[in-house]
Amino acid sequence: MNTPAGYRGRFAPSPTGPLHFGSLITAVGSYLQARAQQGQWLLRMEDIDEPRCVPGAADEILRTLEHYGFQWDGEVWVQSQRQAIYAEVCSQLQTQQHLFPCACTRKQVIAQAEQLQLPKGVYPGTCRTGLNPQQTPRTLRLKVPDQSIEWTDQIQGIQQQHLQQQVGDFIIRRADQRFAYQLVVVIDDALAGITDIVRGSDLLDSTPRQLYLQQCLNYSSPHYAHLPVALDTRGDKLSKQTFAQPLDPQQAQADLWAALDFLGQHPQQDIKTEPLDTLWQWAHAHWQLSSVPKQRGIKI
Ligand code: GLU
Repeated sequence: MNTPAGYRGRFAPSPTGPLHFGSLITAVGSYLQARAQQGQWLLRMEDIDEPRCVPGAADEILRTLEHYGFQWDGEVWVQSQRQAIYAEVCSQLQTQQHLFPCACTRKQVIAQAEQLQLPKGVYPGTCRTGLNPQQTPRTLRLKVPDQSIEWTDQIQGIQQQHLQQQVGDFIIRRADQRFAYQLVVVIDDALAGITDIVRGSDLLDSTPRQLYLQQCLNYSSPHYAHLPVALDTRGDKLSKQTFAQPLDPQQAQADLWAALDFLGQHPQQDIKTEPLDTLWQWAHAHWQLSSVPKQRGIKI
């Protein structure tokens, strides 16, 4: 594949609502790491899951990032405009016999896993050997191998997952005909020439599926660094689903300072009130990925 040389990182928000402190941590971590390597930082709007997207959220995210002083490279990648590419890669996987049609609903998969005493939602390979003529195909799944995927995360250390035992054959095209996150993220990262992925550790569990897909598609694998995620007082990840407070651009300095602190960079108290530019200068000069902790306690 023809990809540009040098470090290329990215930030890939889903426009399902405004950015919150958890998203800021990912944006700050991926941005500073890219710039510390004299690399590029791309922005990708992950609006593939249309029913979950909120009208206007993508524009609001871009405005918020600008207010906080982020500067991305090139045009914003927009997943909803890339369906034809995803369809082509999906056909390629089909031709290579990596996929099979599955008739199971989510409820059925949960019940099957329970019956077989597998971890929650692990797909036990029910439709792998083919559907009978009365069954209607719902989704397309990727056959996973009976082996462990191992990799070293730059923050979380050595990681391992047995795809068949811990995940099972996973969905590539959903019942609503939309392409699954796992597929589109792998395609877009490869086609954008992303060399390094810095993102929240809530996605750690998806990485082996993505590594395996990269193998199937003959893509090279990027390096991964999974940042600690911010939790609310109940211990849940800050997210739109848990009604995390949207970022307030009026608070940009204080938020950036808090994000740097959260990421283990130890910004001094006295720079908290400095102009945003000064804070960014400090951040660029002091950023160390090796200081980022694996996990953090409760944030708010
Ligand atoms: N769009 C995903 C999110 O907002 C991030 C995907 C990724 O970084 O791979 O959680």
